[in-house]
Amino acid sequence: MTYTNKNIRINGVDIKPGNNAQVSLNWYQLPTKTVIEIPVYIFRSKNPGPTLLILAGMHGDEINGIEIVRRLITRDDVKKPLCGSIIAIPVINIISFLSGSRDLPDGRDLNRCFPGTKNGSLGGRIAFDLMNEIISQIDFGIDFHTGGAKINNYPQLRCVFNNKTNLDLGKKFSPALIINAPFRDNTLRKEAAKKGKSILVFEGGESSRFDYLSINEGMNGCIRLMKHLKMLKTDIPNNPTVIINKTTWVRAKSSGLFHTSKTNGSHIQKGDLIGKICDPYGEHDEKLISPTDGYIIGINNQPVVNQGDALMHIGIDD
Ligand SMILES: [Zn+2]
Repeated sequence: MTYTNKNIRINGVDIKPGNNAQVSLNWYQLPTKTVIEIPVYIFRSKNPGPTLLILAGMHGDEINGIEIVRRLITRDDVKKPLCGSIIAIPVINIISFLSGSRDLPDGRDLNRCFPGTKNGSLGGRIAFDLMNEIISQIDFGIDFHTGGAKINNYPQLRCVFNNKTNLDLGKKFSPALIINAPFRDNTLRKEAAKKGKSILVFEGGESSRFDYLSINEGMNGCIRLMKHLKMLKTDIPNNPTVIINKTTWVRAKSSGLFHTSKTNGSHIQKGDLIGKICDPYGEHDEKLISPTDGYIIGINNQPVVNQGDALMHIGIDD
């Protein structure tokens, strides 16, 4: 693919090739008249190349993604790309980030508000601005997430396997795991794909907690992808990536205290004992047995669970 040096214009500000800038996506008013601006960082080479978006904080309590983008934009090789442009948004959902919550004050999930509307709800407006000011100008993007609801996700990339560009980019990121994740309606990933823009979704760790393995893996994968796009020269050895087509959840058959001795990311076999649920009175233990060969890709860290709760996410071996 050949790239030309085009102008980048965000919220009325022109950023020419060879220049770096910080602009606001837009401003959003809170009930207190407080105005929230969403900072966007742009790093441009003089040499033509792709425009890559690195985005985090779609869910306000998913801190690992925010830390990954923060670390990336403090690096000299990222601030001075050898070609193309990097657009970084460390915290897209500032309003939820401030309250430490996943969703917006009206209960909406920002990642179900796409493509958004100009005069819609807060989520709809942010989604609209992201689509129109940013997605329209990029070639590819990475959306950094963290496991929600006490689930710790082993560092993984979610791709759409029937979209060749998406999977190929995912392989250049070289995560430990690539998981087939079909599009969901009203997500950034699906709406961007409709505009021909490939978005990779990274998941790592657990909400409201730092997970340094996930932070390092997310950062390293992004550097590998940037190297592949010739934006920088830094070499980071690849992971032996495992490709996972299908996943399944092991759910609690009874309520109680959940224990597991298995570690996230480890390989398990059908019939393995993967955990137990104990009642608090010491009278009954329920054994949890793996229904399949596969890799543990997510573990529920909640000690107290109810019948039916998702406990362990398993990526099935082909
Ligand atoms: Zn998320």
